[in-house]
Amino acid sequence: MNIHHHLDEATLLRYASGDLDSAFTMVVAAHLAMCDSCRQAARDAEEIGGHMMDRVAQAPVSSNAFEKMMARIDAGQDEQIEVDVSRHKKADSDVPLPLRNLIGDHLDDVRWRLVAPGVRKHEIKMGKKGESSLYMLNISPGMAMPEHGHGGAEMTLILSGAYRDKLGVFGPGDVADLDEHIEHQPVVEPGEACICLVATETPTRFKDFIVRLMQPFVRI
Ligand SMILES: [Zn+2]
Repeated sequence: MNIHHHLDEATLLRYASGDLDSAFTMVVAAHLAMCDSCRQAARDAEEIGGHMMDRVAQAPVSSNAFEKMMARIDAGQDEQIEVDVSRHKKADSDVPLPLRNLIGDHLDDVRWRLVAPGVRKHEIKMGKKGESSLYMLNISPGMAMPEHGHGGAEMTLILSGAYRDKLGVFGPGDVADLDEHIEHQPVVEPGEACICLVATETPTRFKDFIVRLMQPFVRI
């Protein structure tokens, strides 16, 4: 697979230390299943993290970390998302392995909801309420992707087709790992719909909501 756009180093470190919530963890795991170089980098990050943990093992664990862990156990949430490359290469599936439990083996089987002309969406419920959201988009050739990612981080993994924005062309396996400061308006390349997996931070929606609430008063 010819991948040009990879995960940010900071993202890999956060992934390795378990600091990402379930939506972002899923996008990272799906990219790792498709990308040899990031998978190696993630292994290195885990090793570095392991050494650091050894050194701070004597330090008291923050009560917050403990509560988070207990909450995850209570929720029955599986911390380990499997990234098994040999199974990913199974010829009859076009879905990265970590995603298959959530959407099945084939992109053709995904049930889409039309949200705008040429834009279909499939929401994936995972994690707890208030965490980042995870969804798939299926956008027709030549269409602009809906504006998103204002005020929060977002991560987009291309599963099929391609889009183009000021950062270049993003095709299958490419990931756009963007912080809240990058504004972009991707346009899908001609010929084929672009199907992608997107994680966005919840504050984005919350801020939008506040803005909408304020609109009648401040006329923005
Ligand atoms: Zn990569």
